[in-house]
Parts: sequence; C-alpha cells; structure tokens
Amino acid sequence: MTGVNEIRTAFLDYFNKNGHEIVASSPLVPRNDPTLMFTNAGMVQFKNVFTGAEHRPYSRAVTAQKCVRAGGKHNDLDNVGYTARHHTFFEMLGNFSFGDYFKDLAIELAWNLVTREFGLDRDRLIVTVYAEDDEAHGLWKKIAGLSDDKIIRIPTSDNFWAMGETGPCGPCSEIFFDHGPHIPGGPPGSPDEDGDRFIEIWNLVFMQFEQVTPDERVSLPRPSIDTGMGLERIAAVLQGTHDNYQIDLFRHLIAASVELTGVPAEGAHGPSHRVIADHLRASAFLIADGVLPSNEGRGYVLRRIMRRAMRHAELLGVREPLLWRLVPVLVAEMGRAYPELVRAEPLVTETLKLEETRFRKTLARGLDLLNEATAGMAAGAELAGETAFKLYDTYGFPLDLTQDALKSRGIAVDTAGFDTAMARQREDARRAWAGSGEAATETVWFALRDRAGATEFLGYDTETAEGVV
Ligand code: ATP
Ligand code: MG
Ligand code: MG
Ligand code: MG
Repeated sequence: MTGVNEIRTAFLDYFNKNGHEIVASSPLVPRNDPTLMFTNAGMVQFKNVFTGAEHRPYSRAVTAQKCVRAGGKHNDLDNVGYTARHHTFFEMLGNFSFGDYFKDLAIELAWNLVTREFGLDRDRLIVTVYAEDDEAHGLWKKIAGLSDDKIIRIPTSDNFWAMGETGPCGPCSEIFFDHGPHIPGGPPGSPDEDGDRFIEIWNLVFMQFEQVTPDERVSLPRPSIDTGMGLERIAAVLQGTHDNYQIDLFRHLIAASVELTGVPAEGAHGPSHRVIADHLRASAFLIADGVLPSNEGRGYVLRRIMRRAMRHAELLGVREPLLWRLVPVLVAEMGRAYPELVRAEPLVTETLKLEETRFRKTLARGLDLLNEATAGMAAGAELAGETAFKLYDTYGFPLDLTQDALKSRGIAVDTAGFDTAMARQREDARRAWAGSGEAATETVWFALRDRAGATEFLGYDTETAEGVV
C-alpha cells in the first residue's frame, strides 16, 4: 500500500522529471494577499506570477501546498465529519505552467500520472469540461481515448475559474473517480452529485482569458495552467477506499483518539473521531504558521476549529484535555514533510492544552443550557438567536459549534436573531462607553471595528478573493 508520504513524493518527482521546479509550500497565512484569510489553493503563492506582475526563474512549477478551507467562500468546516472527502486542512498537489505549456500537455501529464504511474483503472475515471470548451473535450478524446459519455459538459461556474472580478480566468476540467455503486451519489452534474460515489480528485484550470472589466474579456497571449489534486483524496483511491478518513495518516490519528478515549471509531461516535483528527491537524498547522487563538480574524477561525473539536471530545466522554495528546502522532506522520511542525510542537501542545483547559470551564455548563433550551424540540425546530448569543457571549460557544451540536437532531439556529442580539450588545457597549466621556478613543475604536465589518470582526466570512483553483 502506498502511504501519503510516498504519494506526495511521487507527485513531486513525476512533475520534476517533466521539467517542473519543485517549490515549497507557502505558509497558511498568505504573504501576498491581505484579502485572503488562509491559503486555500496551490495557486495562491503564484498569483502575481500569473498576472505577470512577478517573474520567476522557471516557467513550470510543482508543489504540495498546505491549504485551509474553514471560512469565507470556500468553507468546508460544516462538511467535516459528515462527508468522506472534506477536511478543513488538506494538502493540494499542483503543477503549474506560467505561459509555458497549455491544455494538451496539461491533460496528457495528468492522464499519464493517474493511469500509468498510479495505475488507476481507466474505466473508473470520468472527466468534466466547461460546456463551451470544445477544445478540452476533443483533447480528452484524443489523448485519453475517453468516450463521449465519460466527458461531461458542465455549464455552471463550477467549471469556470476566475481569480477575482478582474484578472486571469478560464475554463476548468476535473477528473473524478467512481468508487462504485455501493456508495451513494451520482455523477458530476447530476442532482445527487454531492454524494461520495464519484469523487473529484483533480481540477485542471486553463487560464486563457483576462477579465479586463466586468464586461470585457480578452484572450491571454500566453495562457497558463493551474491544477490542484487533493492528496488525501488520491491517497484514498490508491489505498482502495472511498473515505479520506481511512487513509494511513487518518487511521493512525483516529486509532490514537480511540485508544485515549476508549470509544470505538465505528458507529455513532465515528464523526467525533473524524472531527477531532481533522481539526487537530488544522489547528496544529495554523499554530505552526503563526496563528494563535483569539477573538477576531484568523485567530477566531482557529478558535472555532479548536473548540468544535473540543465539544466532540466531550461527546466521547473525555473530561480532561485531549487534543494536545494527539500532537506526537501528527508530528510522527507529517513532521518529515513539514519541519515547521516539529519546530512548533511545544507551542502547538501548550496552546491546545491551555485553550482546552479554559474552554472546559464553560463547555459543560453551556451544553447544559443548550440541552435545556432545546428540550422537547423536534427536527425542523429553531433555536432562538438570543440563546445562541448567550452561549457565545457567556460560554464561549462559537455560532458554528452550536449549529454543529444541533445538527444531528435536525435543529437549526436563528442566525438573524443571533446577529440582532450581537448588534444590540454592541450598541449597549457603545452607549455605555460614550457615557464614560472617553469620546475620542471610542470614536477610533468603533470606527476601526465598523470598517472591519461585524462579520470580519468575529472572524466569519472574511475571505473575498477567489484564490482557488
Ligand atoms: P469539492 O467539489 O469536492 O468540494 P472543490 O471543487 O471545492 O472540491 P477545488 O477548489 O477544485 O475543490 O480544489 C482542487 C482539489 O482539491 C479538489 O479536486 C480536491 O481534490 C481537493 N479539495 C478541495 N477541497 C478539499 C477539502 N475540503 N478537503 C480535501 N480535499 C479538498
Ligand atoms: Mg468545495
Ligand atoms: Mg468541485
Ligand atoms: Mg473543483
């Protein structure tokens, strides 16, 4: 069986042999883009190379990029624990051409890697193309010999990528693996495409246009290639499972969580073990890249991830801080590929221990309140926004933790009511402060916060740039 570490190396070596420079992952906090909360795709570190603003001594590159999708446009936080294919932190394998090769070689390289090097059964592969992209359709036929029914035309923005309102853009083409009829889910473009039977493993973006203004699009003189393949997803395929959480790396993390809690991974508590393993990884990598838990911005997203995992630890009946005890397992799995994790191990351990110790003080009482407030509620009911706000304000429950806690019972949260309660509290604080006579400070402080926007201030939804393949 091929482990995650070998697959990563095989990918980098394959493209390196094909003339690509191996470039290290950039940090999770983007250096070149203040509008983006976290690096969420391999192309992020190359944005300025694609626009031509920056030049590199190579025109082909390959990376294994650390990514976090837990906020903003690409937020997979709610999926974790419930789909077989989503993580908050994952590695995106990608090859890039900066005005060098284009569609034909990109398709050929990708097809040869999956079918020859990785030896995937070609009958279980399907691809999508953008509906208008006849060129890509023809190339898949010619290069891969795929029949028309295996090349699905998708007319939606799912298969058209854009860097932002303006800038490089173009059609994309995705490779899916069919894990078989025993897994629920339909092919891409079908109504039940969100199942886990047909899993998207690789996205190839063909950057061939530039959006100059919202109404004007021109062809790029030297089109580029940007691709992204989820390492955990290709590892699942190569290890004969449809489930990312069954790959070597996650099996080891979950086995440790099972051992420490004494609760089996099979059955009702499965999702909790998955959430813990996933969120531990995201937390550790974020801390290693300099993010610390706080009440705003990136730090608040980290706090939400950590606390969500801590509630799941509570569900497993654990009464002592758990997450920090899993750190050595993670470091053993990933420390060689990411030395920053080894360097940050003490900080990661201490940060997790401290946050969990603190949160434990209010977690159980908050859960009691939540249980009382929802006693007798049936699926389809809604928790009052006021209560969700009290849980947030008094017990430190991020809104999505409350939502997650009610998910299995089919109870929703009145988020508009939550926002209203939050706004009211702010207004009260503003008035109290105004009354204190410190008008000058107040003006500056509230102006700053208002400029950041209420949601950003809380760390919700701050990602605006579409820096994703
Ligand atoms: P999906 O439709 O499954 O949510 P996506 O279309 O959002 O995936 P892309 O933005 O195209 O994903 O990213 C490129 C690749 O990165 C995907 O083909 C997939 O292999 C991987 N990937 C994306 N999101 C995740 C995630 N949350 N966890 C693990 N791998 C992911
Ligand atoms: Mg997605
Ligand atoms: Mg997709
Ligand atoms: Mg995609």
